Amino acid sequence: MYRTHNCGELRQSDVNSEVTLSGWVQKIRDLGAMTFIDLRDRYGITQLFFNKEDNSELHSQTEKLGREFVIQVKGKVTERSSKNPDMPTGDIEITVSELNVLSKSDVPPFTIEDETDGGEEIRMKYRYLDLRRAKVQKGIILRNRMAQEIRQYLIKNDFLEIETPFLIKSTPEGARDFVVPSRMAEGKFYALPQSPQVFKQLLMIGGYDKYFQLTKCFRDEDFRSDRQPEFTQIDCEMSFVERDDILNLFEGLAKHMFKEIKNIDFTEPFVRIAYDDAMEMYGSDRPDLRFDMKISDLTEVVKGNNFKVFDDAEFVGAICAEGLAGYSRKQTDKLIKWVQRPQIGAKGLVFAKYNEDGTFKSSVDKFYSQEDLKKWADATNAKPGDLILLMSGSKRKTLLALGELRLEMGNRLELRDDNKFAPLWIVDFPLFEKDEETGQMHAVHHPFTSPKKDQFHLIETNPENIKAEAYDLVVNGNEIGGGSIRIHDTELQEKMFKILGFTEEEAKAQFGFLMNAFKYGAPPHGGIAFGFDRWVALFNGSESIRDVIAFPKNNAGRDIMIDAPSEIDAEQLKDLSLAIVRE
Ligand code: ASP
Repeated sequence: MYRTHNCGELRQSDVNSEVTLSGWVQKIRDLGAMTFIDLRDRYGITQLFFNKEDNSELHSQTEKLGREFVIQVKGKVTERSSKNPDMPTGDIEITVSELNVLSKSDVPPFTIEDETDGGEEIRMKYRYLDLRRAKVQKGIILRNRMAQEIRQYLIKNDFLEIETPFLIKSTPEGARDFVVPSRMAEGKFYALPQSPQVFKQLLMIGGYDKYFQLTKCFRDEDFRSDRQPEFTQIDCEMSFVERDDILNLFEGLAKHMFKEIKNIDFTEPFVRIAYDDAMEMYGSDRPDLRFDMKISDLTEVVKGNNFKVFDDAEFVGAICAEGLAGYSRKQTDKLIKWVQRPQIGAKGLVFAKYNEDGTFKSSVDKFYSQEDLKKWADATNAKPGDLILLMSGSKRKTLLALGELRLEMGNRLELRDDNKFAPLWIVDFPLFEKDEETGQMHAVHHPFTSPKKDQFHLIETNPENIKAEAYDLVVNGNEIGGGSIRIHDTELQEKMFKILGFTEEEAKAQFGFLMNAFKYGAPPHGGIAFGFDRWVALFNGSESIRDVIAFPKNNAGRDIMIDAPSEIDAEQLKDLSLAIVRE
């Protein structure tokens, strides 16, 4: 027997028991006549005690040990003379009578500690060592707990967990597909699913009215911050439901998770904000509602003072940063540079300081009197001591830029507290968005999303203004989940494909099976998918989803531990009838 107990469970009440423990050597403290070793496994750390006077032969064996050796010890649980109240096992130690080395270890390339000396790259290369760190384990264990809670909630609500295939034909979720060449069908390819979207809809047609699955999705996207080419969704679908049935059931899931995992009770319904309103108020379709700082429309207020920038602008908006009127020239200059970075892309920034004495100082004093600036303050609810920040330009771009600025000011004012959670639903998304360059319409969500019921008739005449029966769950500025009521009618689905630029033949070739299925009694249905990695990261307080994935890819989509992607040999290429053509 390798162990009678794990390294985190022995207590004062176990004193005098004979035990066997196995684990990794975390730390060795050699004090000459006495040696202490911290023995670690995933449950905790237990101190081992070797006394030269009692057993010099055994004591000398400890000299051959090193960090990360795997050892087994037998001994007696004894009360410590100096207890460590910071450790659950801190009252006791094991007075060792037998030591076996189960496995030696090279000196690890970084310290297996919470605050390690290893950088990201080296930790990724030796991910199995990184996984030993308590900090990493915490995220992986939380992930497991959350998966269990999700399953419990959904199963209690009659959902069936059903797997769908990975080797499929392209699913349009807006990214590129990863493809897998087929050996048997020469020159043909499978695609890996960007999501199980069409399969879950087919399951509804198959009569499995409540489906879910924790499943991998694959999207070949260019590197953007914190994306993984493969990630996990909690994918769900229901039949005979309207939007609110779905929102209510999955709000229940979110509340269940907040309660079980974070011990937070959300007794009130989550706020629901229409997409258009979210854009106007927060300049974002995933607003962080941990703080207010809404955008105010100043377009009319600022016009007519011969300040051409504002006079000519389609939109002028402002936010009020509380208490920052004391910003120095240097600080405001820096802020202007900040909004001019390509990520924000604003031309500039106008500011007005509402001084404590009730006067104003603005960057456009030449054009605006104190009375004018007082109107800005009224429109933005600014008080003496506040800083008003204005941007102008085309409406959408300006709102988006103000949205980014709002988040930045929220950070600076420390209003984005990690221990606070502000969930909300965004509803009534537009169904389409138009590519500004090509004029081509794209689905904002995906092509299977239903227009709102009372807007079906607009599909031919005014598609741009149609709102979709689509929704996102947003928490603290993160989109945690999103879904929609689906089209379940062949004719409407055909119209949808047409607007999206598919010819009849193309639509048939790609989605003929789905449209055919709609002909055989398709129930009204809808669903949602949650980004499981992001949700776990949020609850774990992690910046990156990499922290909560056991074997993540790096920023460039590479697994540097196993060295993937990598070349395949000529034989394999031949089997697949493939040749590599290098440009
Ligand atoms: N398949 C969608 C997605 O991956 C989610 C859904 O509509 O249920 O975003």
